[in-house]
Amino acid sequence: KQAESSNTHCALLFIDLDKFKPVNDSFGHAVGDKLLCNITERLGNILNENAQLGRQSGDEFLVLIKNVESQDSLKETVMLISKELANKVMIEDFAINISASIGVALYPFDAITTDILIRNADVAMMQAKQNGRNGFSFFSDEMNEQIKQKLMLENDLKDAVKADLFFNHYQPIVDIEARTINGVELLMRWKNKEQFVSPAVFIPISEETGLIERLTELALKRALIELAPLLNDNPLFYISLNLSPKHILKENITERLQCILADAGILPKQLRLEITETILLEDKLKAAKQLQKLKAAGFKLLLDDFGTGYSSLTYLSQFPINVIKIDQSFVNSIGEDKGDESIIKTIISLAENLNLYCIAEGVENRDQMEFLVNAGCHVLQGYYLAKPMSAEALNENSCFRKIIELI
Ligand code: C2E
Ligand code: CA
Ligand code: CA
Repeated sequence: KQAESSNTHCALLFIDLDKFKPVNDSFGHAVGDKLLCNITERLGNILNENAQLGRQSGDEFLVLIKNVESQDSLKETVMLISKELANKVMIEDFAINISASIGVALYPFDAITTDILIRNADVAMMQAKQNGRNGFSFFSDEMNEQIKQKLMLENDLKDAVKADLFFNHYQPIVDIEARTINGVELLMRWKNKEQFVSPAVFIPISEETGLIERLTELALKRALIELAPLLNDNPLFYISLNLSPKHILKENITERLQCILADAGILPKQLRLEITETILLEDKLKAAKQLQKLKAAGFKLLLDDFGTGYSSLTYLSQFPINVIKIDQSFVNSIGEDKGDESIIKTIISLAENLNLYCIAEGVENRDQMEFLVNAGCHVLQGYYLAKPMSAEALNENSCFRKIIELI
């Protein structure tokens, strides 16, 4: 209001701490609280009388800067804040290293109402996070366009769920030693207005909009029908289903999955559930309880994208995981990055020691396949062996034979 009446410009900074949660988790909430106070103090020391600092929520802060004179001076302030927050601090006896992602929106250029100004600063902050954290980003029209696109996609997605416009692809998981196809990973597909939308795009949206559970259940039901011949012919053949973190935390997930399988006359051991570490980071106790329940019901649990997460090792012993899937980024580096090759070997021997079963994904060529088999991981998934395909293609008589011939 002041800026409006005095015809001046003001800026809103949306500050989100990077990795604050792990600090709470590893050092305790008392340390987390002290860190927040410490950050407030340090921010207060940087800011002059033109700025006002407030805490938006948990680890989010807002800074309102009045009388912004130039983009350059504003940028200087933002950089100063960013640099200060990246400094190491001692809290009790712990040396803590965190940083912040900062989004900036300007009045009146980016928004003229408070709500939109905050929202746009938030959007810019998320952009800064995507750019690799510990940085800042100014709001732009492009971001606005992205939001519009996202809202449109959200609407299309809602309609598509109602009309059941999704279908499944399946990617074979191959045992190189036994020369068998052990199972398939179910990968969801959506064709929107004649264009394929990547699951990497629509899954996060369906999680945000709460549609993911319905989508997953429909996909599983579809898979049980489409793959009935394979599942019935071979009681060891399995479907590997990706479960989103939110979905796993749902109270009745075990019962619902049991019910869907029972309707199709399939046993739980023919379903593998792929989870990622994010679930384990969110609400540890609840996650552990849910996973125990799923395990007790006879489902096998697989930790997906292994090696990319935060502190995988502790989780492996704390949660009832049966299988780990080495992330494709490591497989990708075989022959190119000795460090990643060592990580792969370490993961495989770790799996052996913990009596876990190991799968590698993203195998795109023979060299990668041979490296993995020599290192002791012989259950593989990837374009080299087979791309994700329709049930029809998978059910063709020659499909498995062609894959085995590639080994
Ligand atoms: P993800 O679970 O890590 O799935 C593996 C992804 O790698 C799939 O991409 C697959 O097509 C791709 N891929 C397989 N082999 C190769 C290879 O040799 N090279 C390369 N470059 N890529 C390979 P897709 O199908 O696009 O799925 C992307 C992500 O979307 C999945 O990653 C998963 O996180 C999510 N997703 C897909 N379907 C579902 C689903 O039904 N439910 C949930 N919750 N998430 C899903
Ligand atoms: Ca997966
Ligand atoms: Ca994966």
